[in-house]
Amino acid sequence: MRVSTPAALALLGGAPAVPREARRVEWPVVTEADRDAVVEVLASGRFVSTSPSATEVDRLEQEWARFTGARHCVAVSSGTAALALGLAAAGVEPGAEVLVPALTFAATGLAALHQLAVPVFVDIDPRTFTIDAGAAAAAITERTRAIAPVHLHGLPADMGPLRELAAAHDLRVVEDAAQSHGAVYGRTQTGAIGDAGAFSLNVSKNLPTCGEGGLLTTSDEALYERALAMRQFGETIQPGAEREYRSACLGWNYKLSTIQAAFTRSQLRRFPAYQAAREANVRTFLDAVRDLPGLVAPGVPADRTHAWHMIRLRLDAAAAGLEGVRPAAFREAVRRALRAEGAAVSRYQSMPLCDQEVFRRREGFGRGYPWTIASAGAGAGDRFPRTREVLEDSLTIQRTHLSPAGAPLMARYAEAFQKVWSHLDVIAEMARSR
Ligand SMILES: *Cc1c(COP(=O)(O)O)cnc(C)c1O
Repeated sequence: MRVSTPAALALLGGAPAVPREARRVEWPVVTEADRDAVVEVLASGRFVSTSPSATEVDRLEQEWARFTGARHCVAVSSGTAALALGLAAAGVEPGAEVLVPALTFAATGLAALHQLAVPVFVDIDPRTFTIDAGAAAAAITERTRAIAPVHLHGLPADMGPLRELAAAHDLRVVEDAAQSHGAVYGRTQTGAIGDAGAFSLNVSKNLPTCGEGGLLTTSDEALYERALAMRQFGETIQPGAEREYRSACLGWNYKLSTIQAAFTRSQLRRFPAYQAAREANVRTFLDAVRDLPGLVAPGVPADRTHAWHMIRLRLDAAAAGLEGVRPAAFREAVRRALRAEGAAVSRYQSMPLCDQEVFRRREGFGRGYPWTIASAGAGAGDRFPRTREVLEDSLTIQRTHLSPAGAPLMARYAEAFQKVWSHLDVIAEMARSR
């Protein structure tokens, strides 16, 4: 019988577990149908969504509303625009406070600032990485007007308790669904749970366009009407009628181009198949690594589904048998070893949002606005212990698993993890010497 000794770590000169030629990831996947859809728009000469007859933008809005189960959809120029528009149309005013999880992409906090509202950060549930409902309750003041839960990495936040909280305190709920296309909480898709939902169509997201774009969903008629006007300079344009160029409220130019709408409509046809393939890619990978000691695979509560925009893995040095190794040092050693093996693990967010300069130094609009309007402020210092803990001891996999053809690459990733785990003594030494 052959006794196999573990192959040398690539970090120490061994052959990488993921061969160079196997590392290419195609995302977004662009097909002939996508190209045809774009070329058709070019041939039609109708590039903007304000034409009196239905355009690709109108069709995408109808299809996305139907897909999510929301009554309406307003297509916009980015996910950030969708968030800002959602908050504005929901009536968030200057000086208001908006509850935002401390672990998210900067745009969630910036969208509040765009309304001259103050993002008030809230710690996360360390198992789901989404806003903690109990901590959200504790952060409510008389100025709180809205909650912006983020379905981070594609897992819906715990929307039941959040909606109860919102009902009890008369708060609007604007979901940041930029990473959660198609994910379900209870029986409802993200984007159709709160008062409004903001999706991103950025090329990196699960439902991409060929560039930048966003979709705002809502079942609230008044919010919908306001969002429509605000997207377009505050104008109301009657379908089939000529544009009058009269602004009735503060508006922006947040429109989506018809080219980008056509591309996303074409992608949407394949979205369910891609989502199923992605789910399989992730399951296979997680099943292969979940028993590695000290590796904590993401949990999916029974009442929701995961869109798997990213995979966040927590690392527990003590459970891996490495006593006295600091979490950040362990994570860093594992990250370096995996990357040398060709597995592109990375950190997603390196600090709680409150520590980013714009929020920490209260740059905003200058002279402390909008913080000086409101009495309260975004917290800083050593608060948000759960967020900090997660940021310190976890790594993410991004993009690699998104492609429906990603199964072989994810199998290689699993091998890279197994290989690194067969050299935990080396990893521990690296971690201790830092
Ligand atoms: C991508 C993203 C956004 C912003 O979307 P853009 O389309 O890039 O403007 C907002 N929130 C989260 C959580 C995101 O991942």
